[in-house]
Amino acid sequence: MFRLKRCAAHFPALLLTAIGVSIASAQKAPIDITADLSDAPRKLFHADIDFPVSAGPLVLTSPEWIPGHHMPGGPAGLTSVVFTANGMTLEWQRDDVDMYEYHLTIPPGVTTLHARVESIATRRVSQRLAALEWEALMLYPAHVPVKEIPIQPSVKVPAGWGIGTALKPVSGGSYPIPSAGAVTKFEATNVEQLEDSPILTGLYFHEYPLAPTVSPKHFLDVAADAPDDANLRPAVLAEAANLVREADALYASHHYSEYHFLLTLSDVAGGMGLEHGQSSDNGVGEKGYADDVHQLPEADLLSHEFTHSWNGKYRRPAGLHQPDFAMPMHGALLWVYEGMTQYWGDVLAARSGLKTADQYKDGVAMVAADLDYTRGRDWRSTQDTAVAASVLRGGNPAWSNWKRSQDYYFEGELLWLDADTLIRKMTDNKKSLNDFVKIFLAKGGNTGPLIVTYTFDELVQDLNQVAPYDWGKFLHDRVDRINPRVDVAGLEQGGYKLVYHDKPTKSERMIQAAEGRRGAGIDCWYSIGLRLGADGAIADVLWNGPADKAGLAPGEKVMAVNDKVYSADALREAIREAKDPSKAIRVIVQADSFVSTMQIDYHDGERYPALERVEGTPAYLDDIIKPMTTPEKAPEQKKDSAE
Ligand SMILES: [Zn+2]
Repeated sequence: MFRLKRCAAHFPALLLTAIGVSIASAQKAPIDITADLSDAPRKLFHADIDFPVSAGPLVLTSPEWIPGHHMPGGPAGLTSVVFTANGMTLEWQRDDVDMYEYHLTIPPGVTTLHARVESIATRRVSQRLAALEWEALMLYPAHVPVKEIPIQPSVKVPAGWGIGTALKPVSGGSYPIPSAGAVTKFEATNVEQLEDSPILTGLYFHEYPLAPTVSPKHFLDVAADAPDDANLRPAVLAEAANLVREADALYASHHYSEYHFLLTLSDVAGGMGLEHGQSSDNGVGEKGYADDVHQLPEADLLSHEFTHSWNGKYRRPAGLHQPDFAMPMHGALLWVYEGMTQYWGDVLAARSGLKTADQYKDGVAMVAADLDYTRGRDWRSTQDTAVAASVLRGGNPAWSNWKRSQDYYFEGELLWLDADTLIRKMTDNKKSLNDFVKIFLAKGGNTGPLIVTYTFDELVQDLNQVAPYDWGKFLHDRVDRINPRVDVAGLEQGGYKLVYHDKPTKSERMIQAAEGRRGAGIDCWYSIGLRLGADGAIADVLWNGPADKAGLAPGEKVMAVNDKVYSADALREAIREAKDPSKAIRVIVQADSFVSTMQIDYHDGERYPALERVEGTPAYLDDIIKPMTTPEKAPEQKKDSAE
């Protein structure tokens, strides 16, 4: 159940209708918006917007429930807005219930309303690049389906900065590098599509065409803080091209007229992964693709966001489609929208060479172990983490294993692995989840950008087309019920089991090495139940684990271990020494302005998750990650070692 934010008393139905009619007639001409990113290095965006209007009341709004965010965006995006008409400033009032809405009265004789909008850019911007998601600057008439509002976009960027976007230039072809003050004008679109079409711009910018034999066209648009980083390695470009071919083979349809991976490489502009129908907004660190070690932590980013073009954008749960960006989202099917995307993003990364087969398997082991050591599964279903996505997203990470976080991503990955291997098992490997997505995601064949909603029942029907089974029960059992242990059926049906070793896998060591340059900590989660930063700050404590029982808490800081000043090595050594039951793990812990000594009662040594092959069983997991296409160019041999 949900409650509409707007109460009927606040917007009498008659007035609402009248405003809608007035806008509909006024909206034959498009809104004209020019985003000005010339001040991006000062972290300021501006826009000039002209609205075709007629005399009378007008309600403008900015988007609240932005697709892909799974939570309200917050109305603070617009820092200031000044309305003028015929040279005069117009007064306005904010709606006192819906903070996103601006109420104006258009005077007689006015046909164009101008808005000057300023926005402080808090992320996705550096001295050398910027990514614009249009909600930072956009206003449009409220209470009208956004796909029915025509809009004519343009952009100004700093002189010499390249432009990447799925929007099409009016001039046709590719974008010329703009000179100072130049305005790049795009083809007219509607508000729904503009919100779905971010712009990447940067001084060190490259647009790489990918897999030219695949139609329609695909591009990797890269902006970096340093010129060398924008020159992606040939291996990365080959893997990205493989990704395009693999997705083309798997999904057997497309729902874009051209696809642009927009990618920033910057330690300043922040990490990002936001899906769009014809593009995706991706952000990694400035060395994120510099070598195999740095590539591994985000190796499934491009494949995940690309998959969303089919799963999430084209096919969308009915409750996650907001025709006006104002209706609250229902997250109930996010374990499909995100969970199945997590599954295919990871599988496609392995099929295209963005990660190796071993890296894929090590990653699945880490996912399964992490979820199994999530104590919140004693009280909360996976479904509840999806329904509550908007309040779990961005929350305080302390005790997150007891609260659970957005587990619908990785629980979804294991659920769809379970479904894939079950179909293979039932059909002697003749059918698989590949066949399911060809039905579920390719309905209607090739289309332009389009949203086709679905329900739980359609999911079940389509699974039954591949292999008859009680899929409704299968899904309900895994999603709706409280399951204290993780679903490892997919691993076991895939020919593997989850085990723990006293040394981390090569992949885990590579990820630690990649993160080390930012001061990575130590993960003692499966031994003493602690995750610590490089300085000993406790990121989280396993609920009811050994460190919890000893009295440690997130936010405290380990200062010393067994009479030595804290270091990751000192803690690991103490855990190893405590395999001797007579030896304790003593820690001095700072909590606020106090210190105390605690003793962790644990004697099983270090433990790190891995997959182990069960010989004599079908290795469906290996079949799943085999490429469906022949690479045009073999990727470089990946190094599996962190050394
Ligand atoms: Zn996603």
